[in-house]
Amino acid sequence: MSRSVTVGVDFGGTNIKVGCVTPRGRVVRRLVLPTRAHTTPETFLDGVEGAIARLCAALTIRRSQVRGVGVGVAGLVDGSRGVIYRLVNVPGGWEGVALRRLLERRLRCPCAIENDVNAVALGEWRFGAGRGTRHSVYVTLGTGVGGGLVVDGKLVRGIAGTAGEIGHTGVRLNGPRCACGRRGCLEAFVGTAGIVRRARQAIRAGNRPLERLAARHGGRLSPELVSRAARAGDRAAREIWQEVGCYLGAALANVVNLLSPERIVIGGGVAGAWPWFRGRLRATVRELAFAVPARACQIVRAQLGDDAGIIGGAMLVEEGR
Ligand SMILES: [Zn+2]
Repeated sequence: MSRSVTVGVDFGGTNIKVGCVTPRGRVVRRLVLPTRAHTTPETFLDGVEGAIARLCAALTIRRSQVRGVGVGVAGLVDGSRGVIYRLVNVPGGWEGVALRRLLERRLRCPCAIENDVNAVALGEWRFGAGRGTRHSVYVTLGTGVGGGLVVDGKLVRGIAGTAGEIGHTGVRLNGPRCACGRRGCLEAFVGTAGIVRRARQAIRAGNRPLERLAARHGGRLSPELVSRAARAGDRAAREIWQEVGCYLGAALANVVNLLSPERIVIGGGVAGAWPWFRGRLRATVRELAFAVPARACQIVRAQLGDDAGIIGGAMLVEEGR
């Protein structure tokens, strides 16, 4: 094993995951810090510095064997300038923070920061389900619906650093309200809230299996419960996933026509329902996109799992070289 590692940091609203990644994309050691104890730039730097010291000690490597540190953050980031505009789920005090410069000053090695979904897009492209391609699009399905674009082996950031926001592309005029405030975004249909809204409709229309499942979970519906109902054979639940496949397919047909990617990689928590929507998703893309780029594009499930954020963070440093 090569003795040099890159550190990847996944800075989320609940946890900060820090891990050492080999040049071949394997996480050899990781640890988790609670975000609530590191919510200011200063305490975040302290936490990351301490975590790196502990990881190096555990791996019996010197600090100088850390090639660099890459951080994926849940928020609006300009990766090329290394500045945070706004964080999601972390209290204030982060607006306009030049985190890359602060990290480099503190850690004395090359550092990079980027939106967390973009980081995972790079990780999946390099070492996960997008491996071996030049053009790969990553889509994450969860509370939010995000995306990251790798074109010609480069992360596409756009002039404002915000490219890839597929969740807020419109799929229906005057559709339901999205968390972003606009109407008819993809996220309003295939994000957690959209799926839960559809499940509530099904219950109001008399669906008993979903109603019983929800009652057993304190009345709280979730995509996971809709998946469970689908697995148990419930028609209405399967119908909800068919609709997810349709809306996601419509959005991805646009992506296929715009970018002609070689692979589209679907990740995130809701992707656990993959068996229930993949057929309709692929069929919709074939139906709505041009035949030639649709045939050339594979739509697959993500592979990196829980380590995706750490591996993606580390890849940011490699990309910046
Ligand atoms: Zn939106």
